[in-house]
Amino acid sequence: MTKYIFIVGGVMSGVGKGVAAASIGKIIQSRGYAVTAIKIDPYVNLDAGTMNPTEHGEVFVLDDGMECDQDMGNYERFLNCDLSAANYMTTGSVYQSVINRERNLGYGGRCVEVVPHICLEVLNKIDKAAAKNKAEVVIVEIGGTVGEYQNILFLEAIRILKIKKPGDVLLSLVSHLPIQGDGELKTKPTQYAARTLNAAGLQPDIVIARAGAPLDKKRKEKIAFNCSMEEKDVISAPDVKSIYEIPLNFEKDKLGEVILKKLNMDPKRQDMKDWQKLVETIHSAEKPVKIGIVGKYFGTGDFILADSYISVIEAIKHAAYFFKRRPEIHWLNADDFSDPASLKKLSEYDGIVVPGGFGSRGVEGKIAVIRRLREKKIPFLGLCYGMQLAVIEYARSMLNLKDANTTEIDPETKNPVIDILPEQKKLLEAKNYGGSMRLGAYPAAIKKGTVAYAAYTEHLISERHRHRYEVNPAYVEKLEKAGLVFSGFSPDRRLMEIAELPKSVHPFFAGSQFHPEFKSRPLKPHPLFREFIRAAAGKK
Ligand code: GLN
Repeated sequence: MTKYIFIVGGVMSGVGKGVAAASIGKIIQSRGYAVTAIKIDPYVNLDAGTMNPTEHGEVFVLDDGMECDQDMGNYERFLNCDLSAANYMTTGSVYQSVINRERNLGYGGRCVEVVPHICLEVLNKIDKAAAKNKAEVVIVEIGGTVGEYQNILFLEAIRILKIKKPGDVLLSLVSHLPIQGDGELKTKPTQYAARTLNAAGLQPDIVIARAGAPLDKKRKEKIAFNCSMEEKDVISAPDVKSIYEIPLNFEKDKLGEVILKKLNMDPKRQDMKDWQKLVETIHSAEKPVKIGIVGKYFGTGDFILADSYISVIEAIKHAAYFFKRRPEIHWLNADDFSDPASLKKLSEYDGIVVPGGFGSRGVEGKIAVIRRLREKKIPFLGLCYGMQLAVIEYARSMLNLKDANTTEIDPETKNPVIDILPEQKKLLEAKNYGGSMRLGAYPAAIKKGTVAYAAYTEHLISERHRHRYEVNPAYVEKLEKAGLVFSGFSPDRRLMEIAELPKSVHPFFAGSQFHPEFKSRPLKPHPLFREFIRAAAGKK
């Protein structure tokens, strides 16, 4: 019998619902249950692929190519699992399924209505995901905040499921408690959020009280009394140093015990030792490893930047913790490097990451940075666009092709070292943008005796992609003759997957056409990030 744990947010967005959902999953998993997690986004877009990352945060990519919300990355990282498109839905995708079924006479001539048919389709998708993942417990996070018009149908779906499967459904409200002048945590907004749920026919079983400080007894009493709950069901969730601490913090208030009891489940075991060790490392690591991320400046501040590159940041952290180092991450604005004097400041860093991107802004600055890193032997990791730009830099500097470029920026260049695949070109011409990039997991062969092989110690790897352009095969031989090594490529050798410089000429200089950051895990850093940080940490 599947058990369902729904997570909804109250008061305001950005209170850490995704991490709370992932942490609850982790806690249940630590009790020996098979857990999967689903994200429901209340927008009409079919997926997150067409959305601007500066507004919506990173587009996370799954093995099967699904472009989804960054919370899915948290689920994979906390639960150490690979999710699929079945674990992600939007208002748009639910409506699309219902409409397709209606067109196929799947409703047998009945009038198809928002209630119940849309809600039932939501539940149908949840059960399919649970079955596909062989999950005993499914965590379902509903995007947005209660009280919004947008997610009301998903709340209705929970109400219906509670009637169908009493005892198997648990609703957790992740709320926020603002702090008033004298430091008092205010509970009233949380009370309103619970009332809003009541109006939708729902009663929260658990309140997770996010706040700048722990809840005192008085506040717990107030929330419990006003939201018709028991005090033990109000969980204190103060800000912590690292998101990986959150499951342990929830456990301090016995969240695991509370959930299992409510769902009538016995613990099969209880073990979070590895995770505890990780958190100890996070707290005790003192010696820093200073990493710069060179991006285009979005003009919206560090917070937005961090959200757009969340998996890159986490991957750097995982690798740093592996070496018991304290990750110190800095944002470097690509545009600042158009002035050659500014390149000098790159020596202040132990390593530089040039992450993925699209379009021409900041590109010449990034290329100048990569040249400097190559010449000054500063560890460099290029991700997707970062790898493409490294190839362009190499062609310009070492093959003397001054106009080498990607046709993404200069379609007329005489030296298109990075070019679009013919099949991708057709899609663009047809304005077929959504979900049409080279997406998801593809295999790559790794060449022996290379930096990549030393990292992976495997001949065949699988990594996730999200791009339209590729290294132009016409330049591969020339680039290799000039010293660039293509250490990873598609098994048919048509597409170049990893470009690197040998250890004998550079401590670490590598770029991948794929996005390794999507597969890094807290207890298992990605091999490329690990080797990059190893070189960066060894510099001093
Ligand atoms: N803009 C490049 C491409 O489409 C790189 C994309 C990326 O970095 N994800 O190929």
